[in-house]
Amino acid sequence: MEVLRVRHCRALVYCRRAPPRCPACGGDLRSAGLTAAPVRLHCPFRHGHGQPRAFLIRPTRGTFLEDVAVPQQPLCFASSGYDGDSDLHVGITNSKGVVYNYDQEGVHRAGSGWEQSISIPLVQPDMWELLQQWDDLLEEFSLEEAWLPHRYQEQQHNCFTFALAFINCVRQGRGRQPLSKAQFTESFLLPHTREASRFLTLHQQLAHTDFYIMPLAEQEQESVAAKHSLLE
Ligand SMILES: [Zn+2]
Repeated sequence: MEVLRVRHCRALVYCRRAPPRCPACGGDLRSAGLTAAPVRLHCPFRHGHGQPRAFLIRPTRGTFLEDVAVPQQPLCFASSGYDGDSDLHVGITNSKGVVYNYDQEGVHRAGSGWEQSISIPLVQPDMWELLQQWDDLLEEFSLEEAWLPHRYQEQQHNCFTFALAFINCVRQGRGRQPLSKAQFTESFLLPHTREASRFLTLHQQLAHTDFYIMPLAEQEQESVAAKHSLLE
């Protein structure tokens, strides 16, 4: 499901297949040179089971690209953190891409179902010790009493609580301060979910029309806004 972007006549044209003529001005694109060459947009979704030691996000039901029909707010993480109301589910992978995730039935170790996820890597390649210990830490953590099924609460003690508590457990083992829900959401999640939201919006526009034309000035304003919010 690729999305292409063509830049021409102060407009950005998003499409599935590059057209011979610019849909904004009618100009011939084949003779327009390199600046009008179509660029394939980076798809923000990954095969989660191929992402070792990562924080994964997927819809609770269905998949991002096929089933999230209405744009509205497909990825609603409030900046104060996950509230349990949104239809998203999160988990943490071990070194083999098995996804540890918590719900009302307790901790699942999923070998499938996360084929289309937003993935946030958690361990850098030079963290040797942590790379070695990761699977044991995750397994031991999952056996704690806090993650028994009856402890689950949709708003306060959910999949997000589990994943963030594990990240904080690892951070504390390395002498770092724990992250609050709001800190984690703002610094780590929102940059990824914003990118995925933009991609989903384009994807959904292109389900109805062949082209989605965005005047360049508007696009520039949007990217300024995105940069600003990252630096807040
Ligand atoms: Zn044009």
